[in-house]
Amino acid sequence: MGNQDYTIKQILQMGGCTGCRFCVDVCPAVTASGQGELSALFRMKGLKDLLKGRTGLLRKILGKKELSGQELKTFSETVFRCTLCGNCQEVCPAGIQLKALWTSIRQDLVHSGSYPAKIDMIRDNLEESHNVFGEDNEERTEWVEDVEDAPDHGYVKEKAEIVYFTGCVASYFPLGQKIPIALAEILDRSDVDFTLLGQEEWCCGFPLIGAGLKEFLQQFIDHNLAAVRAKGARKVVFACPSCFQMWREHYPPEFSIAHASQLLEELVRAKRVPLKELDITVTYHDPCDLGRGARVFEEPRDLIRSIPGVKLVELPRNRENCQCCGGGGNLEMIDAKLSSEVAKRKIEEVLGTGAKAVVTSCQQCVRTMTTYVKRNKIPLEVLDITQLVRKALKKK
Ligand code: SF4
Ligand code: SF4
Repeated sequence: MGNQDYTIKQILQMGGCTGCRFCVDVCPAVTASGQGELSALFRMKGLKDLLKGRTGLLRKILGKKELSGQELKTFSETVFRCTLCGNCQEVCPAGIQLKALWTSIRQDLVHSGSYPAKIDMIRDNLEESHNVFGEDNEERTEWVEDVEDAPDHGYVKEKAEIVYFTGCVASYFPLGQKIPIALAEILDRSDVDFTLLGQEEWCCGFPLIGAGLKEFLQQFIDHNLAAVRAKGARKVVFACPSCFQMWREHYPPEFSIAHASQLLEELVRAKRVPLKELDITVTYHDPCDLGRGARVFEEPRDLIRSIPGVKLVELPRNRENCQCCGGGGNLEMIDAKLSSEVAKRKIEEVLGTGAKAVVTSCQQCVRTMTTYVKRNKIPLEVLDITQLVRKALKKK
């Protein structure tokens, strides 16, 4: 437990906070809850109190007391009610790496024993089943049964040029499964030599970072790298922005990696995907980890525009300013009501564009927005970009 969960750079950066409040204005958790305590500004203040209360000599000089168990609990509740959307970091004029700081605080709180009970469930599921839901890992590719004309190998080949790393949510959630079904069909029609890892795919480790459990990460990284190596692949493709982010930031750069929207844009540009016309006006929601995180803004838009007949209208807040859907940071598990309130604001913004569908590039955004739309009977289609391309795929 303690201050060793922070790097020197993080401690130095904290001192640079000017109190400007830019981070408060863009925070979806603050807007949706009306609670300023959920903002970056308040969290920085809470963190400073936590750190000062721990350091022996400084504590004596400053007369600071260590936070009581109740104070720590209250602070912890605000820390985990954050979508890790990174909008605060995007606008912070002091350049503080706030997103990494939020996960370091989560790690500290786990070490300090003050964290939501759901965190234990995430750790247990990952340790026992290697997926975040505690499902049988052999069932990772069950969705292949719903792919039209799937080959006998079920896309789990011995060797292939590209590995499609599916991710936990898309593998197990019925709504999420529509994405791998669509992507596999498109890649098949485009003659791409790809394979799945099947039961050899383990969680990428992203939920461990969000849960403050970074020290359990290495075994997942080692296993997934070995599984890709065994396929003789040169490239790994992800439809999940969070898996993509994990591989970008935490895996060694052994393979070329790409998000599905980037690969599909390339394939469409090379005229390898047979497309028909679709008469629809859509808007595009930038997933936080793909947009602000990986700075992939233009390829998804180019891909949408390259489908004949599709008209793209922009959201008022787009690209690096895109408003979070409410699905990130494990928030849905910790505070489903707040996650839904954030989604409400997102859907209101979407409806204001007049688009008939909102397209995104993330199974979690699809899940969060679809749940809200269905629950409130809103006539709006929510599609992943792979589903949009599949809709436009010409029949064989
Ligand atoms: S990451 Fe997003 S939700 Fe969390 S504090 Fe920053 S702006 Fe708010
Ligand atoms: S935007 Fe950055 S400098 Fe301004 S209050 Fe927030 S954390 Fe501090």
